[in-house]
Amino acid sequence: MPLHSTEAIVIGGHDLAEADRIVVFYTKTLGKVRAVAEGMRRIRTRFGGSLQLFTEGQLVYFERPNKTLHKVNEFAVVRSHQLLREDLDRIALASSAVEAVSLGAEEGEPSPDLYRLLAEGLDLLESAVRPATVLQGFLLHTLRLLGYMPEFSACVRCRGPVPPKAAVSLSPMHGGLICGKCRPGTPDAFSSSPEALGFLRGASGSALRVMDRIALAPPTVREVSLALHAFLRQVLGRPLRSADFLDRL
Ligand SMILES: [Zn+2]
Repeated sequence: MPLHSTEAIVIGGHDLAEADRIVVFYTKTLGKVRAVAEGMRRIRTRFGGSLQLFTEGQLVYFERPNKTLHKVNEFAVVRSHQLLREDLDRIALASSAVEAVSLGAEEGEPSPDLYRLLAEGLDLLESAVRPATVLQGFLLHTLRLLGYMPEFSACVRCRGPVPPKAAVSLSPMHGGLICGKCRPGTPDAFSSSPEALGFLRGASGSALRVMDRIALAPPTVREVSLALHAFLRQVLGRPLRSADFLDRL
């Protein structure tokens, strides 16, 4: 069995029979990897509680040829993100982040850029003053790295420019902005406030850490969040389970 070693983040998992657990990793050089951690749920386990959600570390695993389920050999923690797991609001936000990556990434298709975004995103979600705004930036950049960046500068249907203060809508099905003329023929379009659109335009070209400095009014955070989840639902084929939390923002 070939042995692989790569930086990895735990993005999911579920229990198997006996004391085993399937752990889903997003790795820097090998993309999404699913592997069995044998005996992980025993009291005395060599994994010692290291394989928890959001933990970043150095993964060593045995590849089982022709199988999608591999075997964890070793996981050395680099960042445990313990504080992230102790705060219910941050858990929900970070869960949305790892779920978007888990659903959007294909096994066997590595994206070091997406790995770096996730690593930086989890660090920021743990320490940020405005973690909800950081998550919105994260989700937008995830859409970009998956190849589905929404168009926010011109109408995606008629290609006409949209003035800064004009009433606009967004259409996940068409992938971006819809002008007032095209709105009647676009059934999935929903209205966007100038504040929400301004944030989406600005965040597209800004580093993630900048998001923590942007003070948005709570209704705007909620509006941006609902818009990004609608775009993700279109791309991923189903809503994020953790999105329920965002309805309560
Ligand atoms: Zn138009």
